[in-house]
Order: sequence, then structure tokens, then C-alpha cells
Amino acid sequence: MKIAFLAPAGAMHRFNGNFGKVLHYAPLTLTTLAALVPEELNADMQIYDETVDIIPLDLQADLIIMTCITGTAQRCYAYADYFRSKGITVGLGGVHPSLMPQEALQHADFIMTGFAEQTFPQMIYDFVNNTLKKVYNQNDDYTITGRPMPRRDLLKPKGYITKNTVEAVRGCSFPCSFCAYPAAFGRKLYKRPVNEVIKEIETFNSKVVLFPDVNLTASREYAIELFTAMIPLKKYWLGLVTSAIGLDDELINIFRKSGCKGLLIGFESISQQSQQYINKGVNQVAGYKELMKKLHDNGILVQGCFAFGGDEEDTSVFERTVEVIIDAKIDLPRYSILTPFPNTALYRELESQGRIFEHNWAMYDVEHCVFVPKQITVEQLEEGITWAWKETYKVGNIFKRLSPFRHSPWLSIPLNFGYRHYADKYELFTKEVMCDNSDIPVPENKEQTK
Ligand code: SF4
Repeated sequence: MKIAFLAPAGAMHRFNGNFGKVLHYAPLTLTTLAALVPEELNADMQIYDETVDIIPLDLQADLIIMTCITGTAQRCYAYADYFRSKGITVGLGGVHPSLMPQEALQHADFIMTGFAEQTFPQMIYDFVNNTLKKVYNQNDDYTITGRPMPRRDLLKPKGYITKNTVEAVRGCSFPCSFCAYPAAFGRKLYKRPVNEVIKEIETFNSKVVLFPDVNLTASREYAIELFTAMIPLKKYWLGLVTSAIGLDDELINIFRKSGCKGLLIGFESISQQSQQYINKGVNQVAGYKELMKKLHDNGILVQGCFAFGGDEEDTSVFERTVEVIIDAKIDLPRYSILTPFPNTALYRELESQGRIFEHNWAMYDVEHCVFVPKQITVEQLEEGITWAWKETYKVGNIFKRLSPFRHSPWLSIPLNFGYRHYADKYELFTKEVMCDNSDIPVPENKEQTK
């Protein structure tokens, strides 16, 4: 039996987009699912991740499993329609099918909603026995303990800055109104036993470890146990936390001792009112500069994420945000536009106000505006974010932020120049480019997926 696992990508993140190799780390979803295919089936498996590779239109498979986020949904549907027309069975899973199951079902033989650890092996047996169901719903009554190692060997060898991605804790209990993650998967927390995580890290033959978990400190107790156990491994690690880390000197100290070199923090906005608008009260804007100093003093650099488009914001927000970022010396700023993913509280609010004008999912890549902002126009918002990217990644401003260079320049400089390239090409990704799936043939009985 041949199984192909596909991860289609949006235009910016595709192998030929503006998101370079230095910014790509190996994804875990498809390697984890591949590891769950029962060994006794002796399946021939391939992974095609479109962020680093093309998806061949002549691929040979009996079964295709595709992971789908909202921004890639249209492209996933185009691939699904095409491969199904070739007689291949196609299943869709991931965030978007979990948010929009009925829509996804129109393009797939079956869908998997929620996390798929338990339903996936059953689905494989159902496929083999010709008893496939239409929908595999994963409830939250499962565990991520005792899972086999992800099949990293199936990934393209040189496409990523690191293949050493490892999961420790899954889930987030915060109520941010824009976030698709709890909307798709709920707010329950799942923790892998620390000894399993450590065992997996010990198999890595290079120094850097990346935790892609959406909130590594979702359980403080667990984070203390995990990172204390990591100290003897002498690794360097990167991960995602909230700005609440700034209030926790004990945990920062453990992070430093365990080799933490970089944290991604969703600062979202320089306005406290905007934090209320998106229900992210954990962010205390007044403390950002102090937080940055504290993390820098502990040798930790920060990727700081900001989202424009809140109702409180006027046209001055772009310049003010860049100023704050340079002043606070945020090592790797990243900008997005607030995006109302389906089934989120933000979507419901904006939809009820009749403000969502764009319904092509390809534009839901968090870099394009899909709703009418309150105090500025759509054009001002898109021009403002383009300006902010370019201004922030001017060479002079990169070095103002990184000065005096003491925080892991081996990491911060390549990443900054990776984002400089991204910023340079940013405005090339117009709606026409974002929504173009004309490289995927359209089956006779279907219309071009738009
Ligand atoms: S803290 Fe992050 S992961 Fe958690 S709900 Fe908010 S945006 Fe989503």
C-alpha cells in the first residue's frame, strides 16, 4: 500500500515564495501521522511538504492524507479534487477541516477532525478493509503518552533550518478571540511524560531543539520539570511562550540553565486597549521593555509577533509600533493582520457587524486584510503593514535592535536577514498571486477552486 502525506502551502510560504529556508523548521503533523501507520501493513510512505518541495502531480499513491489550515484550504481542495479524479482516495485533516467540516467534506473522501492520534490508525484499517467512514472525529478523551517517534526520515533532508522539532505540551487554555487553535481543538491541555520527551531529544545529533507547541508554559509545573530535566543535555532550545514569562524569574532562570536561546512571544499590540479587544489580557504592554531586558540578560532572544487591525488603531499605529520595537530591542519582529478565522469569537463578532468582505481562504494567511477595519481603510492597513516590515528590516534598524550583538548572533543575524528577504518581496503577493492555483489541473466535472 502506498500512502502520500501532503502539506500544501500558501503562496508566500511555498518553496518558491518569500519565506526562505532559514525560516522553515520541520513540521511535526505529517511525520507524527506517518509514525502511527500500523507497521504490519508495511506501507510505502512519502511526505511532500510544499514549503520546501513540489507536490508532484504524477505521484503514485493508494491513499493521500492532507493537512489543511485555513490559508491553504483552497489549494488543498484543488489538490484533493485533482487527485480524486485520478482515482486516489483523499482524506483531509487539520485546523480547517476541524473548523469547517461540511465544507472540507465536499472535496474529500473523508475528513479527520480534532487531533488524529487515535482515529488515524483506525482510519487506516478501515481503508484497508474498504470500510472507510466519511468523518473521523477525535474527542478530547485521549492521551499523547507512549506515541512512537515521528518519522523525520521521510522529510526532505536539507529543506529546513532544523529537523529537531519535538512536542512536549499540547493545548492552550487562554481565550484569545482571534486564535484558531482553541476554536479547532478545544482548550484542554495534554502533556507528554517528560522522560519520553527527553528520550526523543537524546536521539538528535545536533545541538538545536525546537518546540513548536503553541504555549510551552501552559503548565508551569510541567515546564519546570521538563526544562530542569533538559539541563544535563546541554542543548540549545527555542519555543513559544506568552509574555507572562516576564513575571516568573524562577522559570527564566531554569530556561537559561537548560539552554533556552530564543522565545516566540505574541505581543500582538503596543496598545493595552487592543489587548482587551482581542481578549489577550495576559499581555501587559507597559512591561514589554523590561521583559525584553530580562530575557536578554539571560541570553534569550525574542521573536515578537504583532497584529495590526484592531478597532482602537488609527494610521499612527505602524510608526509607533516600529519605534517601540526598536526601543525595546525586539530581536526578530513579525507582523500580521488580525484575521477572523472561521468559528472564532472574532469571526462571529465581525461577521455580525457585516465587516468581513473577503471569503477566499487563500487570503486568510494573516498577511492580508479580509475585513473592514474601524478607523482606517483596508488600503491603509495593507500599506501600513508593508511599510512596517520594510522599515523594521532596513539594515540600520536590524543592527539598532540587535546591538550590541551579544545575544546569539549565529541565530539572530541569519533570521533577521531571512525576514529582510521576506519583507523585500512582501508586496509581490497580491490577491491574484495568493489565490492562483492554476498549476493544479482542474478535473472536468469541477470548477477552478477560487
Ligand atoms: S495564548 Fe496563543 S495559543 Fe493561546 S489562545 Fe492566545 S494566541 Fe492562541
